[in-house]
Order: sequence, then structure tokens, then C-alpha cells
Amino acid sequence: MAVTLYNTLSRNKEKFTPQIGTTVRLYTCGPTVYKSQHIGNYRTFIFEDILKRTLMLNGLDVNHIMNITDVGHLVSDADDGEDKVAKEAARQGKSAIEVASHFETEFKEDIEALNILPPKQFTRATEHIQEQIDLIQNLEKKGVTYKTSDGIYFDTSKIQNYGRLAPHDVNASDAGHRIEMGEKKNPTDFALWKFSPKDEKRDMEWDSPWGIGFPGWHIECSAMAMKYLGETLDIHCGGIDHAEIHHPNEMAQSETATGQPFARFWCHAEFLTFRDIKMAKSSPDTNITIATLREKGFDPLDYRYFTLGTHYRKKLSFSWEALKGARNARLNMLALFRKMPEAKSKSDETHKEDVKKALNDDLNMPLALAHVWGALKNSASQDFVLWADHILGLRVKKESTIPSNIDKLAQTREEYRATKDFKKSDEVRDELKKLGFGIEDTEHGPVVHKI
Ligand code: AMP
Ligand code: ZN
Repeated sequence: MAVTLYNTLSRNKEKFTPQIGTTVRLYTCGPTVYKSQHIGNYRTFIFEDILKRTLMLNGLDVNHIMNITDVGHLVSDADDGEDKVAKEAARQGKSAIEVASHFETEFKEDIEALNILPPKQFTRATEHIQEQIDLIQNLEKKGVTYKTSDGIYFDTSKIQNYGRLAPHDVNASDAGHRIEMGEKKNPTDFALWKFSPKDEKRDMEWDSPWGIGFPGWHIECSAMAMKYLGETLDIHCGGIDHAEIHHPNEMAQSETATGQPFARFWCHAEFLTFRDIKMAKSSPDTNITIATLREKGFDPLDYRYFTLGTHYRKKLSFSWEALKGARNARLNMLALFRKMPEAKSKSDETHKEDVKKALNDDLNMPLALAHVWGALKNSASQDFVLWADHILGLRVKKESTIPSNIDKLAQTREEYRATKDFKKSDEVRDELKKLGFGIEDTEHGPVVHKI
């Protein structure tokens, strides 16, 4: 059974095999660490996790690198405005390193809670300045750079097919309307190196052949991806916004430098929206984080389950109602799992084939999930569900043993009993029963048990 993936570059589904042997060289653009990641960002990271798990299910090894953007991502994609991390540090009265390291740690905790497999290596932009300088010097030799008063820029008119990855024509004559041109020669040109403002000492700045400053955002991904994975990656991923600017720029830099294709497959996840708006860190009304989910009594795995129900190339609209639905479905799955026979059943193999076929068809997770449900209700075994969980990543075994939400419900019942609100405490007991748990009041306090 072969894996097929939609390649944004060819605009087609293509059969995927690694270029060399059985190891997939995968690069995924990581978080910009100036603020908490929101659940929209995590939709993309979960999609990349499902991709990785599907490749592994097909017997492939995945050499996965993810960067941490701790410098260079400017407030505006037009390469002006402040550095996002530096701006947040100034606002909080902290150093840029403190801010970046705080949000990097939080990101790592969040992906653990979402059961997203970590990459083989996280690579920080600030730890690869020399590699970025070397790459800019290479581009300089190739004659595609120019200097302005605020930095060194890539001249996109010097290369053929700039922006062919983007879903829209980025070279169209009106493309520059949204963009502040400054001294740029073309609207699509972008910064490779920015000079530090003359009268200001930045927290994060480095000496370079062009003067003191810091690298542009796009160059970090090109430099680190090629350092760790070679000139041509098997797969490069990110959110669909990156297909427009960031990835075409990475492609332009890497391909000009090496003369080789930068990535064979480019795969992008569609946006998570909230109230019909793309979730974005810059819009406070839509900014829901893992901490927000917890505050509202949800488990991060409820959100993971929620994202599995929609194909990664379709927009996903978030609502609290829909998340409640996902939580119920996840808990029902755990309740059904508990009642299933442990030993393999005859139908397991057919169910496995159905799930694998759906996943191998451009990660059709909603169909794969429907097959899992079919199997849960139709004579499969716990062994099958644990196999499927290698992809779903719902920690079925652990969660069905001591689910934290059940503990929480039991505590809520205790609180109602303490205030003698027996009507409410009975309602919670009924809810627990529906989820497959009983609760007994013993002399040692209430004990929760599976029914
Ligand atoms: P950032 O931390 O802003 O660099 O973004 C991290 C990842 O999240 C990138 O791959 C983005 O393309 C992706 N992303 C940003 N906003 C959304 C959204 N609303 N839905 C899905 N993915 C997103
Ligand atoms: Zn990137």
C-alpha cells in the first residue's frame, strides 16, 4: 500500500516514497516564541504529527527537524516593524532570551499534552547565526542580493519562477499594494539580514560582513533545514499561510544557493477559524490557547480528537459546542474500549486495512476515524484499538485506566456534596455512569470505579 500526499507545488496528489532508502527527511516550520501558541497553530502541528505517524505506520523512519524562531520574525511580513520577540521582551521589561525560552518551554509542554511526537531535534535560530551568514554570502556571490539602508535583501526578479509554490499569483501587478515598499526593488523582495538601528543596542544582534544586525526570518529555515537534512528535503510542512510568502522565500534562497530542488513535497494544513476568522496571535478575540481549554475544563486530548474529524486541507471551524461533542466522543471511545475483549479478534486485520487505506490516501483522517468507530462497534478487540492509537494518539490505554476528567468529575461531585447540593451531586453521578464509571462512598471517601 503506497502513501499518497497532496503536494502544494504540483497541486496534485502524488505517490510518496523517500528519495533515499527508508528514511524520510522532514522539516516543519516551528513556533515563533514571543507568545503562547494558539490552538490554530496546534492544528498544524497535529496535522504534521499525523503525517509522521502515518509514515511510520508504513515502515518508514522519520528524520524530523523543527526550528524554534527566537529571532528575526518581524511584526510585518513586509520586513519592517519590530522583531516579534524583541517587541514582547520590551513590553514585559525582560530580555529577549527570557521571553523566547519561556514560550519555548510552554510549547514543549503543550505538545506533550497533545501527544504530538517531538522532532528528532529542535533547532534554534539564534544558535545558527553563522550558517545563516554563510548562506547569505553564497546568495551574494550568485548576484541575487542588494543592500538598502536597513538591510541586505533578496532580489526576487533575478530568479525564474519566484513564488510558483504560492496558491495565488504573488507576482501580480497589484501584489505590492498591501506591502510597504521602502527601498525594496520589488514588492516580493525580502530581508536576508537586517541592520540594528544605529542608536540602539539590541538584545539579540550579531556582527556580520554587512555590519551589526540580525538575520531575516526566512533564512533561518533554509540554513537549518539544509544543515541537518541536506539540500533536498523529502517533505516540508507548515500552515497554509506559509505557502504564500515564507515557503516561496525559503525555496528561492535554498534553490538559488544549491541549484537543487529544496523540497520534493510541500504539504500545508488549512486554517483553524473561530467565529469565521482565522485564529491569529495578533487578534486577541480569537486567541484560544491550551491553558484556555484547561480553564474551561477540557483536556488537550479533547482538542486533538476534535481536529481528527476534519481533513487537514479543509478549514476547521472551532466552537466550544463542537469541542464538547469531541470530548463526549473521545470518552465514549474509552468506555467502549474498556468493554472490548483484549485478545485479537478475526476482524481486526480487515479493520486495520481500512484504516491504513484511508490514511495512505492523503491522510484521510476523518474516514480513518469512521473506520475505527465501525470497528469499536463491530467485534474488534482492544488489540486493534491500541494499534489504531499509534495514529490517533489519544493515549487510549492510559486514559481508559485513569482518565483525568473522571477524577475531575468526582471532585466536582464532592464539592456539591460538601455544600449539600445533592441534586447536583446526583446529576454528576449520572454523568459518570454514562461515561462508564460508578462512584462509591466508602469510609475512606469516594472511590471511582469502572462499571
Ligand atoms: P507561528 O508560531 O506564527 O510561526 O506559527 C506556527 C505554525 O502555525 C505555522 O505553521 C503556521 O502556518 C501555523 N498557523 C498559524 N495560524 C494558524 C491557524 N489559524 N490555523 C492553522 N495553522 C496556523
Ligand atoms: Zn520556516
